[in-house]
Amino acid sequence: MKSFRRILFLQHAILILGMFLFIVLSSIFSSKLSLEYENKYVKQISSILAENLKLITEIYPNRYLIEESMRRAVKDIPSLNGMCLSLGLEKYCYPEKLNLKYSCSGNEILHNENEIVVCFPVYEEYASQFLEKKKEGYFLAVFNRNYVEQVRNYWFLDSLLISVFFIAFASLIITSIWIDISVDFNKLKKFIDDLKKPDRAFIPLEKQIENFKIEEFKNVAQLIVKLAKEVSHLNEYIKELAITDPLTGLYNRNYLNIVLQKNFIPFWKREKFPLTVALLDIDNFKSLNDIYGHQKGDEVLRKLGQIIRNSIRESDIPIRFGGEEILIIFPSSKKEEAVKAVKRIRENLVKENFGIGRPVTFSSGLADFPDDITVPGELEKLIKLADERLYIAKNRGKNRDILD
Ligand code: GH3
Ligand code: MG
Ligand code: MG
Repeated sequence: MKSFRRILFLQHAILILGMFLFIVLSSIFSSKLSLEYENKYVKQISSILAENLKLITEIYPNRYLIEESMRRAVKDIPSLNGMCLSLGLEKYCYPEKLNLKYSCSGNEILHNENEIVVCFPVYEEYASQFLEKKKEGYFLAVFNRNYVEQVRNYWFLDSLLISVFFIAFASLIITSIWIDISVDFNKLKKFIDDLKKPDRAFIPLEKQIENFKIEEFKNVAQLIVKLAKEVSHLNEYIKELAITDPLTGLYNRNYLNIVLQKNFIPFWKREKFPLTVALLDIDNFKSLNDIYGHQKGDEVLRKLGQIIRNSIRESDIPIRFGGEEILIIFPSSKKEEAVKAVKRIRENLVKENFGIGRPVTFSSGLADFPDDITVPGELEKLIKLADERLYIAKNRGKNRDILD
């Protein structure tokens, strides 16, 4: 961003330097330039006049006609004082006094005190129609120096004004672009800062994109939001992967050890609500595996996960605790209530036909706060108690729930 601003600053500096140079060079070369302008002006007019005379002499060579044409030209062109055409022995001038004043041989422009004289040769074909002997001559036009200088000054000023106007206009445009870019840069910075906030709201950010004036900034902002969304989704997905058991779709022990310890246990300690843990263990699972294979065992586990998720509340927390052991945490529930959910799970599991000639059952042990422990937050203790009761359930013939 800084380097971009530096480029813009450089652009401005070059522009200002350019203007400065232009003015300095214009002043230095103004005399040379003005001479160029003058010569250009008088040459152009002279060639038009000569061309006009050529047309007349081609039609009908007549002194009166030629001089009349010259008179008219001098009358119509304010900067023109007079002109002469010399062909062989004939010499035509208007006004006549020029006859004595000027003569020339080559291609030249003379700058006198009050007049500018343009002179160029004319060749025989110029007058071939009316001269018996084809001779060479010259054409001469005399201009009023003051008037020509005036014209030149107008031209010069005109060009200067156009250039200054152009430069001013260009700098105005560049400045407005520069302002737009600066504003957009600041917006983009704020936009990115907003994005960094922990609670990233993409919808307001998408609205912000409309505020960018320059299309390129809009594109950049859109790309940033897109990338941020992808990262955010990926993040969510990774988080979910990290805490989910792929076979049962229940939480895994990471969830118990990290998320619950960090967020849930402090909340429970503070709020001191009742809480039950139930530890479920499938009965005779080893023999199921041994007889029908691991794949059948996996199918049972997958189904059990599904049944559990459908049989408990959204706020209850099911965790795959070990191989075929499931821990369910029931916040705000005592054992008597929680056991109803456990029984619901059993009923649904028993209904399932796994094609093994017998229903699949499980045993469970339950423990709760405040009946079994006096201090909220001691989850480990509750799990240990539930495990002991599960052991009792197994010993008492399995397929049952032990609450104390
Ligand atoms: P009990 O009724 O006393 O619980 O007997 P059990 O056979 O279920 O007890 P045990 O703990 O001896 O057996 C658990 C078996 O669970 C052993 C292991 O092979 C199996 N198991 C653990 N995890 C998985 C799994 O992900 N898939 C399958 N198919 N089997 C698993
Ligand atoms: Mg077991
Ligand atoms: Mg078992």
